[in-house]
Amino acid sequence: MGFWRKYHEMFTKKKRYNVDGRKLIVFDESKADDEIKNIIRESFLEVCKNDKIAKNFRVIKLVMQDKFVGMTTFGPTPVFHRGNDVSPAMLFHEELRQNEKMIHINIPKLEELFRYNYHGSASFMKKKICSIIAHELAHIWNFYVSNILSNGRKISGRLSNRISRLMKSVHISNEQKENLEALRVHIHNFKVAIMDEGLAKYYELASQKELPFEKSKFDELYVKAKNVSGDLKYMWGHYMGGDKWFESKLFSAITGRTGLYHHIGIHVVYTILYADQKISLDEIRKMSYFKFIKKYESCVKKEGQQPVVSLTSGKGILDYKRMLDQLMKLYNSLVRK
Ligand SMILES: [Zn+2]
Repeated sequence: MGFWRKYHEMFTKKKRYNVDGRKLIVFDESKADDEIKNIIRESFLEVCKNDKIAKNFRVIKLVMQDKFVGMTTFGPTPVFHRGNDVSPAMLFHEELRQNEKMIHINIPKLEELFRYNYHGSASFMKKKICSIIAHELAHIWNFYVSNILSNGRKISGRLSNRISRLMKSVHISNEQKENLEALRVHIHNFKVAIMDEGLAKYYELASQKELPFEKSKFDELYVKAKNVSGDLKYMWGHYMGGDKWFESKLFSAITGRTGLYHHIGIHVVYTILYADQKISLDEIRKMSYFKFIKKYESCVKKEGQQPVVSLTSGKGILDYKRMLDQLMKLYNSLVRK
C-alpha cells in the first residue's frame, strides 16, 4: 500500500467488524449524513456475510469518500480508467496489485443516483448498494483469477503497436496525435473491458436473482447490446471518415461512460452460459479474451444471431481488427495532408 494511503488510514475514522473470522473494515472519510453512511455500512456487512466471492477474502475494506482528487497522482489509478469519477464505486489497480481488497464508495455520486431514482426509500437504496458492492467484488475476483486483467495491462498486438510507433514519428498536431493514441488504447481496453464488465455485471444481476435463462431474456440483452454497438459503430465510422462533430460523443461512449461495456459484456457472458449450460462462470473467467470472444461467436451463432463483437473474424457489428485498420487509415490520411 502506498505511503500516503497508509498515512491517511491511520487518521481516518474506521469501524472494524468480524464475520466468521474474516475482517471487514469501513473507513469514513465522508462529510455526508449519517443516514446514508449507515445504509452503506449495513449493505456492505450484509453482502460480505453471504456473498460467495466475499468468502474468498480474509480482509475486505470499504472507504466512503467525497473526493478522489490526487488519488491518481499518488499511484492508484482507477481500474482501467473506466467510469472514473462518474461511478458510484471504484477500485484502484495499484491497490489490487498490492493485494488490498478495497472498495471506494463515491458518496456524492451515490447521493446523486438516489436523488433521481429511489426517492429516499431506504430499502431500495440498500438493495442498490448491495448490488454495487457485489459488482465490485466480482471485479476483484476477476483481477485475481483472470490473467488478462492482472497482467499489467500491457498493450499487445503487432498492428496496434505499429500504429503507435508510426503516430509518434510524424507531423500531425499534438491534439490529433493524442486523440488517435487515446483511441488506440481504448480499442485495446475494449476487449478486456467487455470481459471484465460482463463478468461483474452478470454476477451483480445473478446475485439479485434477476437473470433467468429464457429466450425472452436472451433477446432483451441481445437487442440492447446490438443497439449500443450499432451506435458506437456509427460514431466510429463518421469520426474515422474525418467528421469531428462526433468526437466528444465517441470518446464518452468508448470510455464506457454510456454503459457500453456493461451492455455488451452482460450479453456476451449471458450468451455463453445460455448456449452452453455446462460451462461455469469461473471457467469463463479463466479464458484468454481471444478464447472468450471466439466462444461467444460460436454461441451466438448457435442462437441464430450475428455477433455483436468479434476480434478478427470481421463478423461482429464491432470488430477489433476492423477498428484498428480504420484507425490506421485515418492516421495515414492525416499524414498525407
Ligand atoms: Zn464494473
